[in-house]
Amino acid sequence: MHPFQYQRADSAEQAVATVTKNPAATFIAGGTSHVDLLKEGVYRPGLLVDVSALPLRQITAHEGGLRIGAGVSNTAAAASAEVRQRYPAVSEALLAGASVQIRNVASMAGNPLQRTRCPYFRDPTQACNKREPGSGCAALEGYNHVHALFGASAACVATHPSDVAVALAALDARVQTLGPKGPRTIAFPELHRLPGTTPHLDTILEHGELITSIDLPAFTGRSHYLKVRERASYAYALVSCAVALEMDGPNIRRARVALGSVAHKPWRATSAEAMLAGQRPTEQLFRAAADAAFAEAKPLKHNAYKVPMGRQLMVRALLETSSLQPLQGPAGTAFAASVGGVAGQVASPR
Ligand SMILES: Cc1cc2nc3c(=O)[nH]c(=O)nc-3n(C[C@H](O)[C@H](O)[C@H](O)COP(=O)(O)OP(=O)(O)OC[C@H]3O[C@@H](n4cnc5c(N)ncnc54)[C@H](O)[C@@H]3O)c2cc1C
Ligand code: SF4
Repeated sequence: MHPFQYQRADSAEQAVATVTKNPAATFIAGGTSHVDLLKEGVYRPGLLVDVSALPLRQITAHEGGLRIGAGVSNTAAAASAEVRQRYPAVSEALLAGASVQIRNVASMAGNPLQRTRCPYFRDPTQACNKREPGSGCAALEGYNHVHALFGASAACVATHPSDVAVALAALDARVQTLGPKGPRTIAFPELHRLPGTTPHLDTILEHGELITSIDLPAFTGRSHYLKVRERASYAYALVSCAVALEMDGPNIRRARVALGSVAHKPWRATSAEAMLAGQRPTEQLFRAAADAAFAEAKPLKHNAYKVPMGRQLMVRALLETSSLQPLQGPAGTAFAASVGGVAGQVASPR
């Protein structure tokens, strides 16, 4: 493994200053993502600045919503009564990810900042523009079954892997940061970038910019997260969907839908959202919205299965969020957030 130095930060300000002045420095929190990349030789930092002991581990009321500190563990956030009751999609997405042991140490800032699971990115013998800019993209001509349907470029077709990022995008969470130029607020859907010609940049964060909290805005509607994966646990999403619905009597006042594992960032289905607003929920409406959401999909050689799978998943997420169909398992458990296997979904595409 590449040798590196380690330093524990005493304050957020000190962490930001230390990383900002050293181009080879980076933050580390739970380490569940970062350490794997170090061991695999994908990432070679000179200095790790440990932010896990900073006082950023509270969940507090904030402007009618919730402020989740950057260092709150995935387990603590998922188990929070406030999160479960008011933002179940967040709890469901967290519980659908990784394993209990990983969630116990994984942080709320580290989770959406984990890097792609593209297998070529994690294999230093393969060409990868994200790992080594200008080296090419082995996935374009390789086995690209877990890759993107939307927003990809000739430089990179990777997807973003975090489950909770999809729920946070649907709920229009806000990211609070402290950076070299001071504090700023980032709308969660703007945090991650599309690959374009610079796929090595996953987010709009500057070097040395520390996430201090993730804020969930006031929300009185219903939210829900569903994920399709190859195993019932300990597996990344093939496709996932988060829905946030606000009702006005029997009609949908506002719908927000985010799709996961289909793009370089959580993908907001804005055409479907517009179609749902002001309408009475019906299965026919939801199928039309899902058709609209996937109309612009551009499948690669091996990932066309994601189109019918994603449409079907989105319909089910909308049916369950609007209560037209009961939840298929206990709310907030990994079972509720799991949907069969690849074969079952592909067999019944519509
Ligand atoms: C076997 C396995 C299975 C997994 N399955 C899933 C899954 O199904 N779904 C899923 O969503 N995830 C999954 N994960 C990923 C896991 O959720 C992430 O590794 C974890 O959430 C990362 O959090 P961390 O605190 O350990 O981050 P770290 O590994 O410490 O850091 C990750 C990144 O975040 C940056 N960072 C950390 N804190 C801050 C901060 N406050 N401000 C700015 N930057 C910061 C680091 O510099 C680094 O770039 C899995 C991981 C493993 C190992
Ligand atoms: S898809 Fe992106 S991450 Fe994967 S090999 Fe190509 S450039 Fe690298």
